[in-house]
Amino acid sequence: MCARFSERQPQRSDTPPRLRARVIAAHGRLLRVRTATGEERLARPAGRKTIVVCGDEVECEHDARHSELRIAAIAPRSGALYRSNARGQGELIATHLTLLAVVIAPVPAPDFFIVDRYLAAADSAGIRAAVLLNKSELALEAVDAAALETYVRLGHAVHRVSAHTQAGFGALRATLRNATAALVGQSGVGKSSLTRALVPASEASVGALLRDDEGRHTTTAVRLYPLPDGGAIIDSPGVRDFAPAIDRLEPRALGFAEIAALSPGCRFSDCGHMREPGCAVRAATGTSLDARRYESYRRLRRLYERLQPRPGER
Ligand code: GDP
Repeated sequence: MCARFSERQPQRSDTPPRLRARVIAAHGRLLRVRTATGEERLARPAGRKTIVVCGDEVECEHDARHSELRIAAIAPRSGALYRSNARGQGELIATHLTLLAVVIAPVPAPDFFIVDRYLAAADSAGIRAAVLLNKSELALEAVDAAALETYVRLGHAVHRVSAHTQAGFGALRATLRNATAALVGQSGVGKSSLTRALVPASEASVGALLRDDEGRHTTTAVRLYPLPDGGAIIDSPGVRDFAPAIDRLEPRALGFAEIAALSPGCRFSDCGHMREPGCAVRAATGTSLDARRYESYRRLRRLYERLQPRPGER
């Protein structure tokens, strides 16, 4: 079993000291960690069932039989990103994220329900979110300006950027500084191009950090790339277009901050804001609550209810 470690736990003097490290690449159980002194080593979790992912802060022991380190303890997690697996359940993909950057573009045209679903996942996980409008050197008629204004009103940074011309990169770099960020969004919006532009080393070193047991390089690994100005981007094809796990959403308002703020005004404390009488959320729709956001909420609520286990299933 892999224990949780706490800052206050004293180490026994007769055991070799454990190394504090951060997981910087993960491919299943094969991990690469960077120790506090900057050394990079291969590592594996001690327990068969223990899940350790990119971003995790861990304590490692030397494994006398292997050159790899053994991960003996995992620090309490924050900013955990869960994707939806084939059965609709949450699967942990990265931790200690502090910024989810949702990328959109004029082509392919944005699907704002997808954007709202990412924002809901970020809000539910306590991760700050930003919207990056990439390809901003192109005509922007396809992008609904009112939707972007709504995001600004909700407190999200909205950056107009271009991976090709690097327009808007000054403000983008300032938002990313000292953050642990993931760039997510629809296929083709330019997430890989933005990552390459922000972290020039990311392309050159793909696959160089991890080898599987047969010595092949792994390309599907989740990787943490340090940013030149401080902070890091967590990236992999599976992170870039992950579908947020529905069962990890905050159950009352599903990660819609403005709906959470309105819900104390509802007649029923467990109001789902769908058909209930005396619902303050429905009453505000079209005035103080953006009608498009409410429609996104309804779609997500229906998905959420469909995935709830029926009585006797759990
Ligand atoms: P991803 O699927 O989100 O990772 O998108 P890619 O980075 O693979 O980019 C998809 C396409 O958009 C490629 O043809 C890129 O060259 C193009 N692209 C990416 N960024 C920009 C940009 O800032 N401006 C324009 N015009 N095209 C871009």
